[in-house]
Amino acid sequence: MKLEDELYLVESFYSIQGEGRFAGRPSIFLRFGGCNLNCFGFGVQLTSPKDGSKLLGCDSIRATNREHFLKSWKKIKNSKELLNEVEKYINTTCKPDIVITGGEPLLHHKKQIFLETITKLIKDGFRITIETNATFKIDFEIYPIYKEVTFSMSVKLKNSGETKEKRINQKAIKDIATNTKNSFFKFVLSKNSLCEEEIKDITKDLNIPIFCMPMGSTSKELAKNDKAVASFCIKNCYNYVDRMHIRLWDNEEGR
Ligand code: SF4
Repeated sequence: MKLEDELYLVESFYSIQGEGRFAGRPSIFLRFGGCNLNCFGFGVQLTSPKDGSKLLGCDSIRATNREHFLKSWKKIKNSKELLNEVEKYINTTCKPDIVITGGEPLLHHKKQIFLETITKLIKDGFRITIETNATFKIDFEIYPIYKEVTFSMSVKLKNSGETKEKRINQKAIKDIATNTKNSFFKFVLSKNSLCEEEIKDITKDLNIPIFCMPMGSTSKELAKNDKAVASFCIKNCYNYVDRMHIRLWDNEEGR
């Protein structure tokens, strides 16, 4: 298998969806390794388990930084392994949502294992949300299964620290918005960087819901931004959504 064909699972866990349109819903999370962006603007710091150096990134840094975290990721060899990850959380009384996240999970959207897993889960009646930065253009005619998926498009804004050329792919966004039924925008904002014009620019002419949430990887940090983001939502008629998992458990792993 070539390096670019490899698929790594960072973790799976069962919790509640803390963000976006389905906030509060019990959900099984599959977090995949690798990302095409480096959002150092979110200012999360972590010590490398590889060499002890200080790393700067987003709150998913364990899933984005292949160089420093690969050893803790699990290499997936077939779709059965992934389906077993889901199976272990299922009981007969509840059908949770499935949330596919990262890193950037659409890095893997053409891979056989990824497609087989999604196809089987959809067939079994699960609602699937893929959390994406929406920079990868999906060919919905070649991969029609993605028309059955909800996309949570967390398009990165200038507060991410990434360049506009890398973080915005307006064609990819439009394709997701027009080919899927329940997809939505989800923006992370701080009181000092509400990015009003940029959000208007990205979302214009696309009739899908817009959710904004406060930046922060602990409840203390959220509290610094939440009221400004709520006021911004009221002003612009966007949906305010908290980050429930952080409010409840701070940055505890597996939540
Ligand atoms: S796109 Fe998402 S996962 Fe990737 S670096 Fe940015 S915030 Fe982190």
